Amino acid sequence: MTYTFEPESTVGVPVVGTDALFPVRRIYCVGRNYAAHAREMGFDPDREPPFFFCKPDNAIVVVPPGTTVDVHFPSLTTNLQHEIELVVAIGTGGRDIPVASANDHVFGYGVGLDMTRRDLQFAMRDKGRPWEIGKAFDESAPIAPLYPVAVFGHPSKQAIWVQVDGADRQRSDVSQLIWSVPEVVANLSTYFTLKPGDLIYTGTPEGVGKVERGQTMRGGIDGLGELSVRLV
Ligand code: MN
Repeated sequence: MTYTFEPESTVGVPVVGTDALFPVRRIYCVGRNYAAHAREMGFDPDREPPFFFCKPDNAIVVVPPGTTVDVHFPSLTTNLQHEIELVVAIGTGGRDIPVASANDHVFGYGVGLDMTRRDLQFAMRDKGRPWEIGKAFDESAPIAPLYPVAVFGHPSKQAIWVQVDGADRQRSDVSQLIWSVPEVVANLSTYFTLKPGDLIYTGTPEGVGKVERGQTMRGGIDGLGELSVRLV
């Protein structure tokens, strides 16, 4: 059998220390997973269960180390915002994964941006409609190369930060996650069967803000490198 047209090729994210690419399957994102960010969005950060939304695999923009990659300013927004996030890469699938063994399913970690059309997200949220047009647009998920668990280990206490044109915007620590990585993996796997290649953007700390055409975002997580993106 052939295809009616050539299908898009699999999106791959480089892996530090190897020439092999991590093939992206689904991109899951966690909403409101840092207390101070939940407050700035107008919500009580008490441990309400984690909630999830998705982006398409072709939202990925790979940002090689030491480079600044151009990303197109998206259409139909006047309030594009940065959300710097720890990204979990799933290496072993499963469903109903226990918290205690969730780390065994992790291939590695990276740093990514969950770019957000905040005006459209809020308009949809306020009408009880899905978030897709606010979150799942083209080039909305820049990511740096992944670090395998064998290289990085698992997150404990690492700074997470992003600057816009050299000025601090977000600065926190991944130890401030409301729901830890094992808890996120376990909970997510009760809703969806996780498969190798899945990425999980684990939520952003406080300090989200607007970015304009021509501005450069540079962000990172201690031990997981940095990424730099210019809006064009
Ligand atoms: Mn986010």
